[in-house]
Amino acid sequence: MNLDLIRKDFPILETQVNGHQIVYFDNGATTQRPLPVVNAVVDYVTHQNGNPHRGAHIFAISASEAYDTSKEVVRDFIHARSEKEIIYTRNTTESLNLVSRSYGETHLKKGDHILITIAEHHSNLVTWQRAAEKTGAVLDYIYIDKETGHFPEEELKKINDPRVKILAFAQVSNVLGVEFDPKPLIKRAHAHGAVVVLDGAQSTPHKQIDVQDLDCDFFAFSGHKMCSMGGIGVLYAKEELLDEMEPFLMGGDMIETVEEQTTTFAELPAKFEAGTQYVEGAVGLVAAIKYIQAIGYDDIRAQERKLVTRCLEGMKKLPFIQIIGPKNPEEKEGLIAFEVEGVHPHDVAQIMSAEGICIRTGHHCAEPLHHYLGVNASCRASFYFYNTEEEVDYFLDKLKDVRKVMG
Ligand code: PLP
Repeated sequence: MNLDLIRKDFPILETQVNGHQIVYFDNGATTQRPLPVVNAVVDYVTHQNGNPHRGAHIFAISASEAYDTSKEVVRDFIHARSEKEIIYTRNTTESLNLVSRSYGETHLKKGDHILITIAEHHSNLVTWQRAAEKTGAVLDYIYIDKETGHFPEEELKKINDPRVKILAFAQVSNVLGVEFDPKPLIKRAHAHGAVVVLDGAQSTPHKQIDVQDLDCDFFAFSGHKMCSMGGIGVLYAKEELLDEMEPFLMGGDMIETVEEQTTTFAELPAKFEAGTQYVEGAVGLVAAIKYIQAIGYDDIRAQERKLVTRCLEGMKKLPFIQIIGPKNPEEKEGLIAFEVEGVHPHDVAQIMSAEGICIRTGHHCAEPLHHYLGVNASCRASFYFYNTEEEVDYFLDKLKDVRKVMG
């Protein structure tokens, strides 16, 4: 991996703040977009733009082709069986809402259990609170071990309860950085017929996903967290589930025939994609997938592991830094959440920002996890393959100064 060449694809990384070159460590929130992705979108918009699946003219056809071929690329990317199983949404959040509304709310009954983990992002938590409220189902949690960040066996036994009809969890926690090995959990849930919803927002950018191997029933991810444009996300679902599910949105292009009082719905995946599709987004997503594949996940992971290791080693030498979740770099997927003793996370972020360093602060849309851990808010540095060890050193240097600055 030639880092210098790769960084040239991201002109935004040359931004200067107060005389310092920017250090972008907020990749868990959103990644930057490389020129090949930007150029692919510009090329589509300037030469091929039309409304897909509606019309016979040259641009309706080029838009349809761009849109339909993008589905083949995404299908192959996550190894789904069929393009019918790939639904475009705006982001992971919308994908999870689709599952919760179109599957959860129509299948759950009073007394059923929805099982999620205490480490969930709000998009995989508030959605299920809503489904529970609407159906009378019980929302239950798997709690992590506060020291290790993993699930104790006692907690995992909750999955075996036959009342659990839906198990939903993030493959990688956006706070702990831990990857929860999904396959054994999925097997346990399937053993009594529960369906499994996997939130892949923080895993897909960093590791090869194979939905058939995982055998999850639903899988959600966002383009913008893996070098694509904002506003496009993916929901993978097994075809047999999508077939029997209600559409999420009603409107154009998701219908077969419409009478005054009744409608029949289009085949998959159109049934779940009402309205004019976001072709620019699909084109950008394809370019992002190709960009990531050209680098390769092995190199991506190796670079991230280097950065996490260096950062953790540096942080451990600073006695006023509390790392959240495991402290072993092997257990952190590209991000480190932390507290600076005696300094509010917003002040840390402000000081860092003045030095050109972008980190995230707050509860990272995981408020129940922060409450459970007894932490009000935290800071988070999250890396991607274009970050460098020099950037980590600069960040650690500035971190040392934070307490001095605050007096
Ligand atoms: N799930 C996890 C684990 C996340 O980290 C995020 C975003 O940070 C989401 C879901 C929601 O993603 P989006 O805002 O793209 O819908």
